[in-house]
Amino acid sequence: MTALTDLGVAAIRDGFRAGSFSAREVADSFNEAVAKARALNAFIVETPEHAIAAAEQADRDRSDGLLKPLSGVPIGMKDLFATRDIQTTAASGILKHFEPAYESTVSAKLFAAGAGMLGKLNMDQFAMGSSNETSAYGNVISPWRRNDGGNAPLTPGGSSGGSAAAVAARIAPAVTGTDTGGSIRQPAAFTGITGIKPTYGRCSRWGIVAFASSLDQAGPMARDVRDCAIMLEAMAGFDPMDSTSLDLPVPNWEAALSSDIRGKRIGIPKEYRIDGVPPEIDAVWEQGIGWMKDAGAEIVEVSLPHTRYALPAYYIIAPAEASSNLARYDGVRYGKRVDPGQGGLAEMYEATRSSGFGAEVKRRIMIGTYVLSAGFYDAYFNQAQKVRALIARDFQQAWEKCDLLLAPTTPSAAFGLGEKSDDPIAMYLNDVFAVPASLAGLPAMSVPAGLDSKGLPLGLQIIGRPLDEQGVLNAGLAFEERAGFTARPEAWW
Ligand code: GLN
Repeated sequence: MTALTDLGVAAIRDGFRAGSFSAREVADSFNEAVAKARALNAFIVETPEHAIAAAEQADRDRSDGLLKPLSGVPIGMKDLFATRDIQTTAASGILKHFEPAYESTVSAKLFAAGAGMLGKLNMDQFAMGSSNETSAYGNVISPWRRNDGGNAPLTPGGSSGGSAAAVAARIAPAVTGTDTGGSIRQPAAFTGITGIKPTYGRCSRWGIVAFASSLDQAGPMARDVRDCAIMLEAMAGFDPMDSTSLDLPVPNWEAALSSDIRGKRIGIPKEYRIDGVPPEIDAVWEQGIGWMKDAGAEIVEVSLPHTRYALPAYYIIAPAEASSNLARYDGVRYGKRVDPGQGGLAEMYEATRSSGFGAEVKRRIMIGTYVLSAGFYDAYFNQAQKVRALIARDFQQAWEKCDLLLAPTTPSAAFGLGEKSDDPIAMYLNDVFAVPASLAGLPAMSVPAGLDSKGLPLGLQIIGRPLDEQGVLNAGLAFEERAGFTARPEAWW
């Protein structure tokens, strides 16, 4: 018999409905798997009691004939989502022991849909990072290892690295992530799983610890496209508590899933072929193009001429917004306070923030404050905003020629922990293919494409028009059927 932890969201939901197992059995299996996998450091807080309570409710509901979309499904929650009375830290020391008095909209929706929570997932501090090494709770270790026998610990990617590791290691069937400049897609690609960032505004940001508010967007990470569609349906929807939330009905993405993409025009952005990217990335991209052709799509070359300015613009806009968002951590309202013993309020702020924030967070605050300062605002922040508009326009022009775009998710497979942590620029370069869709607010999904020569997963990214999550999911499904990606890490944890 298949272990319950080998089942994804759809399989758990359907098996539970069919009476093949109880929700309690599922919750127990995953809770046990989580407890056994502590070597991965994927969770900051484990909440087995939450998963059990939801499961017992689901079992009672089932006998009363009340089935909800996620009844019986336990999930992991990125620690960026405020969860009532459950520690929420954004993986930062400054929020240590912080227990929110309210629930984020996305987590509330998932719980209302019947899901239980296995725990709060580790991540890069305040979602700033691409490797999970900026967490104040120690880095996550990827369940994957290179096949060279070296056993060097690898990054699961970031910032949703705990999320990615948990799904890849089969200790959660699905999880929440957030993506500001790639944090769902890059870790999904590094760990051989699927993750979708919907159109900006689809999921409410209310109760998500803010990083860069004009870019932050929640989305699911799961084993396959269908599971992502199911999760996204539960997470999305209008919320008057978020002024940028889109007042639109949530489509039935799962019901409309179809891998028939005949006649769809798939654009290949020529500027995404950049120097220095390993040939394996190009090879997997070519293979993906072949699969899309095989599915009956028409392949067209398109140009996104401002692509090379996306990364520098992102690394101005995101820190600028972060420096303003993070001003609220002052030692008075939330979490940690350090009393320097002398001086006044300013000294208390300084002592709290110096000891509470990690080095990368401080770097972002300083960059952000600098690019917003009186003498430099026009040269940096305003200029970056103009570049952002040009990038959005590039995509609009591309949509005249194509319906979707296919590109690599990352410029490499997962790297070793410590390999890039001393070089912020090398780390930032990881996001080169991810940030344009973020700056333009477009839906984008990473799907596993294959393994590199060292046995590590590589992902490709499908980017769609605003609000066309369905197009992205459908192309993802067509891709998934052809890629036939079944590789999983060998358990060492
Ligand atoms: N890696 C990017 C950064 O460090 C993106 C992070 C994210 O999407 N949250 O900013």
